[in-house]
Amino acid sequence: MGAIRKAKALSTHVLWVMSLFALLAVGGMLFVVLQALVGTDHVSIERQQQLVRHAMEAQEARVSKEQKSITWWDEAVEAVNARDMPWIHENLGEWMYQFFGHDRTLVIAADDRAIYAMEEGRAADLGTAAEVLPIAAPELARLHRRFAEVEGRDAVVERSVKMIGGRPAIISLLPLLAYSEELRVRPGEEHVLVSVQFVDHAFLDHIRDGYLLPKARIQETEATGFDETSLPVLDGNGNALAYLAWKPDLPGREILNQVLPTAVIAGLAMLALIAFYARSIYRSSAEIEAGRLRALHLASHDGLTGLPNRSGVIQRLERILPRAGEESIVLLFADLDRFKEVNDTYGHPAGDDVIRQFAARVTCLLGENDMLGRLGGDEFAILLRNLDTRDDISVICERILSCASEPFSIEEGTAHVGVSIGYTFLHPDMPRSESLRRADIALYAAKREGRDRFVAFSQEMDAALRARHLIEEELAATLARGGRDLVLHYQPQVSGRDGEIRGVEALLRWRHPRLGFLLPGAFIRLAEDTRLVAKLDEWVLRHACRQAREWPDLTVAVNISPCSFERHGLAGRLLRIMHEERVNPSQVEIEITESVLLKEGKNAAEELQQLRSHGVQVALDDFGTGYSSLNRLRMLKVDKVKIDRSFVQPIGETADSTAIVDAIVELGHALGLLVTAEGVETERQREYLRFIGCDEIQGFLFSGPVPPEAINEMLIEERQRGAA
Ligand code: C2E
Ligand code: CA
Ligand code: CA
Repeated sequence: MGAIRKAKALSTHVLWVMSLFALLAVGGMLFVVLQALVGTDHVSIERQQQLVRHAMEAQEARVSKEQKSITWWDEAVEAVNARDMPWIHENLGEWMYQFFGHDRTLVIAADDRAIYAMEEGRAADLGTAAEVLPIAAPELARLHRRFAEVEGRDAVVERSVKMIGGRPAIISLLPLLAYSEELRVRPGEEHVLVSVQFVDHAFLDHIRDGYLLPKARIQETEATGFDETSLPVLDGNGNALAYLAWKPDLPGREILNQVLPTAVIAGLAMLALIAFYARSIYRSSAEIEAGRLRALHLASHDGLTGLPNRSGVIQRLERILPRAGEESIVLLFADLDRFKEVNDTYGHPAGDDVIRQFAARVTCLLGENDMLGRLGGDEFAILLRNLDTRDDISVICERILSCASEPFSIEEGTAHVGVSIGYTFLHPDMPRSESLRRADIALYAAKREGRDRFVAFSQEMDAALRARHLIEEELAATLARGGRDLVLHYQPQVSGRDGEIRGVEALLRWRHPRLGFLLPGAFIRLAEDTRLVAKLDEWVLRHACRQAREWPDLTVAVNISPCSFERHGLAGRLLRIMHEERVNPSQVEIEITESVLLKEGKNAAEELQQLRSHGVQVALDDFGTGYSSLNRLRMLKVDKVKIDRSFVQPIGETADSTAIVDAIVELGHALGLLVTAEGVETERQREYLRFIGCDEIQGFLFSGPVPPEAINEMLIEERQRGAA
């Protein structure tokens, strides 16, 4: 569930990033286009302003030009000189108004007084002139001066833009001149024609029509509206008298307006497309992510139980290791006992059943933050968190032990197993491999101590283990060099009746260069754990056989570890050694323990059968200590039983053991087997064993294990006694 949520979150993230990119791309494109359109508008406005400025200037010039069409006119000079007011009105005033649309026309005499005024096409009161004259006085003075300068021979023009009656107006002044010499106007005599053209609606309409410009209006302030622009109407000093304002043509905006609906639709379509693709990418990325997480899950989980597997456990361990400083965390290794027997007896499906049930039982015992994983086979790892006292662990371990000891119901009936547990506390700065190693060592110790128990890791264990590893290496090395430091001692097995030596048991010793003379107890278990024991047993057999050639009348017994049976073909290997050493197999006895038959089952029985068919005798060692019952003895194909010394030594002291020894001897004989008693140390034990008819005895009473020379001496002594 968490994995799917994570996959979704990741995909959402991807989706957001994608959408952001898409929006940025679309936004960027829009920005560029808008920028271009705005730029276009900007250029257009500038061009229109230029045009308007140009039009204004042209209009100003036009006023003068129109005046000029009548100021060089003999009749006009005559009329003004004669003060022919009707003529003046008709040809200068009314004409200018009707034909050119000048708002006002004045005729100023040489003394700078107006003789005629026209306003809106009508002859006006000279008061009109009183308004204009002071305003136009500087131009008038300038005109006179310039006229004087050209000595009345040229039509000088004075023009400016000024406020008249609160309105901007073009004021243009020209002297009235005549063509004919006789009428020639000399400086100081000139009448001046003044035209006033207000910069107003009519004027602006005129500009608009003439230049195909948008409709403008005149206003006092600059245009501020976002779709307006304006141009100042300047007087001769460059001061703004008013502003021409208009709504400019905005081609960019027009394009925008035209394409906007299409663009909006296209944009929406694009967004929809992006959304669609984003969604499918979101989905497929979610699927990919979910698939990846599924694969990850499979890689880190066990198929049988659904629990984390070894790599899952290691991942988890690594994740929580840093927290081991704040809380106490324990790593447990649990290994089922006798699981192999379930597998061998009932088959793998039954074994799988047990594994699953055990996993389910342990899961019930764990807290929310704890974790159970399967390392493989019948090995489990448990991470326990928030454990603050060792008592807690003991409680949990006890529970795990008891849940493993409950019978497991399988198809074939019920299976009984147990569990061994080793555990160690985690430390934040300890590498995870070390934590795993420690839990493993503790588990190993639990197994060694006899299974069905839990053991905490300790440094001593580690030291012991290192020492064991060293010994193991040295044992392997000495075997590789032909067993130079190994020696065999032989313990006589004598007749129960007359004490005559019947045979010897070969017992291994190791002259260890560093640790001295080692008895098998110090290294046999280790050899068994590392499978070196098979080689060791073969070495022993080979050297025992060499010795046996010197003692043709004695049986030589050799101990064969149950582990040696694990590899198939043991009988063949042993027989070949006897053959190579030229010893008759019937002179050899091998000693096995009941666990061989228990552990290796049919295979062991077959191997033994093969050995026996070649004459090798088989003795059942340590009888009575294993799981087997007296009943089982009947089914075992052996030649001899060796009563374990734990029953022999208390003979005469406890009634129980005496009865057991009695029963073994009786049953053994009933089955046609020879019976040997081990560990006979006292005369009393020997007496009793002879009394009940035990065939052979072996023990310190007669002799402990000794070098072969000592056996030779014993044999010589015996022969001498016999001869005597
Ligand atoms: P085991 O097969 O039961 O061998 C007899 C052990 O009892 C020997 O110990 C022997 O020294 C000891 N013993 C003999 N008589 C007496 C007695 O009267 N009193 C007491 N208390 N002990 C007595 P050892 O030599 O230390 O061997 C121990 C075990 O190591 C053997 O037990 C056998 O299981 C194993 N072993 C010895 N040699 C070999 C070997 O070559 N191969 C394998 N696979 N195991 C071996
Ligand atoms: Ca033995
Ligand atoms: Ca024994």
